[in-house]
This record gives sequence, C-alpha cells and structure tokens, in this order.
Amino acid sequence: MPGSPAPADKSTAQRGVQRCINSSCGATFGLRERIYVCARCGETLEIDCGVNARVDGRALRDQWASRPARRAGSKAPRETSGVWRYLELLPFEADAPFITLFEGNTPLFEAPRSAEYCGLRALRLKHQGYNPTGSFKDTGMAAAMTQAVISGARTAVCASTGNTAASLAAYAARAGLRAAILLPRGQVSSSKLAQSLDYGALVLEIEGNFDACMRLVREIGDEPSVYVANSINPFRVEGQKTVAFEIMEQCNWCLPDHIVVPGGNMGNSTALGKGFQELLVLGLIDCLPKLSVIQAEGAAPLARLFANLDGQGRGRGEHIPEKLDPVENPQTLASAIKIGAPISWKKSLSAVLRSGGQVISVSEHEIADAKAMIGRDSIGCEPASATTVAGVRKLVAAGQIHRDDDVIAVLTGHALKDPDYMIRYHDGTLSFVAQKGSGPLRPLGGAFPNAPRRVAANKADILSSLERRQ
Ligand SMILES: [Zn+2]
Repeated sequence: MPGSPAPADKSTAQRGVQRCINSSCGATFGLRERIYVCARCGETLEIDCGVNARVDGRALRDQWASRPARRAGSKAPRETSGVWRYLELLPFEADAPFITLFEGNTPLFEAPRSAEYCGLRALRLKHQGYNPTGSFKDTGMAAAMTQAVISGARTAVCASTGNTAASLAAYAARAGLRAAILLPRGQVSSSKLAQSLDYGALVLEIEGNFDACMRLVREIGDEPSVYVANSINPFRVEGQKTVAFEIMEQCNWCLPDHIVVPGGNMGNSTALGKGFQELLVLGLIDCLPKLSVIQAEGAAPLARLFANLDGQGRGRGEHIPEKLDPVENPQTLASAIKIGAPISWKKSLSAVLRSGGQVISVSEHEIADAKAMIGRDSIGCEPASATTVAGVRKLVAAGQIHRDDDVIAVLTGHALKDPDYMIRYHDGTLSFVAQKGSGPLRPLGGAFPNAPRRVAANKADILSSLERRQ
C-alpha cells in the first residue's frame, strides 16, 4: 500500500521513525508517512522515538515525579493526561496539537478476595476501564488522533463493533475530525454501538462480513484525507505503552514479578511489552516483569501456538514462528477478545518470550467465575478483563506464579460495557455454545450467583431475607 504524501512540516511536533518489525527488512519510514504496514514487505510497523541508553533515565524519572498528575484547574496536557505526562518517551514534541479527554491516571486496586481465589497473598488490579470511554483503548486513541491531526486528515476510520469504535468516536470528535465506523450489516448489537452514536460518529453498515469491512478500511486509507485507526496503527501502541510507566510510578519503582493481560488482538500486551522494554533500556528497571497473556479457550490461536513451541523456541524469543494458524470461528462470550486472527501477535509473542512469561487460555466457566470474584472486590470489569484473574489462578495452580509473588493483572474494560452478561450470570441464564452451529447452548452455572429475590411488601419478610443473607 503506497504511503500518502506527507504535508509540509510546519512545526517540530514530532520525533522518531516508523520501523518495520521484520528484522531481515528493517525498513524505516518518516512519522508523517501515512502507511500502516511496511511498504517494502507488508509486515507491521513500530515506532522508534529514540529511547536508548544515552537518554538519562533517572533525570526523566525525577521530572515525572515533580509533575503533578491531574492538577486541579490545569490546562496543560502533561498535568491532566496520563498519556501526555510521559511525553518525553513519545514520538511528539511539546508543540504538538495534543488531543486528550483526561485519559490514563487509572487506579491500581488491591483485590484481596480475588487474591485469595487465585491462591495468592496479594493481587493488584490495574483498571484501564476507568478511562473516558470505559476501556483501555483511550490511551492509544489519544496518540493516534493527535497523529491524525498532525497528518492533516479530516476523517478517522476504523472497522470495529466494540471498544475501539467507541474510543475512536469520542477522540475524533474531540479532535474536530469526522469519525467513520464500518460494520457488517445485520451483525451489529445496539448496546455496543450506543457510545459511537452518542459521540456523533458516522456508522456505515456494509453488505458483507467483518473481513470485507477491514478490506474497505484499508482501501479508503489511501485517500489523503482519511486516517486509519485500526489495531495495526503503531501510534496507538505508543499511547498504550504509557500504562507501563504509570504502573511503575504507582509501585514507587518497585518492579512487580508478573504483569498479566487479556489477549485479543494483542495490542495491549505489545504496548506493555514495549513500555517495560524502554524502561529497561533507560536503566529505570533492571529486569523485565514476566508478561503473561490470557486468551479465551474458543479464541486462543496464540495460546495454541505457544503450547507447541519447544523449550528452545521459548528461549529468549529469537525464533518467532512465521505463521499463526487462525481460529476460523472464534467463540467466546468475552466479546472484546473474540478474535481468531490477532494482528499484533508477533510483537506480543516476542514481548512475552523476552520476559519469560506465558500464553495460556481459560474456559468460559473460569472467566465467568473470575469476573464475579472481581465484582466481590467492589471493582467490576467487562468479561474479557476477567481472563486475567482466571489465568492467574491457573498459573498459580501450575506453579508458574508463586503465592508470595507480586502480581498485577490489567483490567481492560468497565463492567457496564456488558451489563447483560452480569445479569445472566447472576440469575443463572448465562449460556454458551462452544462451536457455531454445533449443539444446544450449555448453561454455564456459575459458582457465585446472586439473583434478585422476590419479597412480600412487609417489614418482617424483608428482615427475614436480610437474616438469611448473613
Ligand atoms: Zn518490511
């Protein structure tokens, strides 16, 4: 796909290059070149913004420490946004037209009930669902929409029915850009679309499936006025990598043993891997936390590949296989990770192997119970996020994580992204079919149901219900 011509450089808004991740290619492109894959070999790109051992990491850390997070009344993006707070490690200069909705600065919760459930002494949950549109996508979209404005685009486009669409719609509106979301006609759930419609996005229903939408997005991406913000966009990874910096500041620079994330399109694990790697290069941490990715059993192409890697292949990540066998009809109720052919799997796998982490899968049953347990910790999350706690429990049982280890699981979406799932879990009607078109729905029968109860309208019955509850 040829790059669109870059507009004349009128400011110093950016620094760095886009680099092909294929080490035998290694082609580099300017940041203003609007390409989304390597123009030479077709592989994905990543951004190199000059993070190297010559940069004074300690000075940077001191600078961040002196910069207030969320200063009341401040209009400076570096004092209100948890992404722009780390501008020194992003491919933008101080005069860039920063787009922000006060993303980042999300809480790191202690989760004692989930810890006990997993067999750990303690467990912390980093909740990216506290972002403006309720998902982790917002940190990446702040960077991608800033880049869209710099590149002179008028329309931002993506193919998505879920969190990406909501985030794109909000950030494009804030950037003064038109947002266009391409969807397969007749396969759209209104609950997932509600946010995009509310933020004013143009929702285009296409005759065809999701792959057809993706192809069309790539085709219209050649238009000079269009900016593509799908998962392949390397600027989104730059925004998302700041979560690693934020975690380390919240931990007072005491490195956790494990970081555990859900695995769908793998952008999140890729970004966290890049963030921690940059902190290592800067000398701000002396080793990497083990990064583990958890997939749902019905949508687990990377877990399957990982299980088949031999000891040598797991070594230090030098041998990333050429191909990933996709899952043709991915099935999971955790819709945010219902992805059979993840775009960023190579970058993600490389980050996992470099850190000594794992890629595993968990069942629908395990996800549902883990989600209820996170709820009992008064935290809540969307189903995909709960793969992490289910995965940690499994890794503890397998001896990969030890009882006293310092573990942080990353929750990616807010509980209210999928209220129907919660209602059905608690009233016992949540059900699942393992393969499309094969057999009846199987009820999941969760271990921690909490259905509403009917009570007669009098004080005595209410008091007796309260007593039974204790
Ligand atoms: Zn290349």
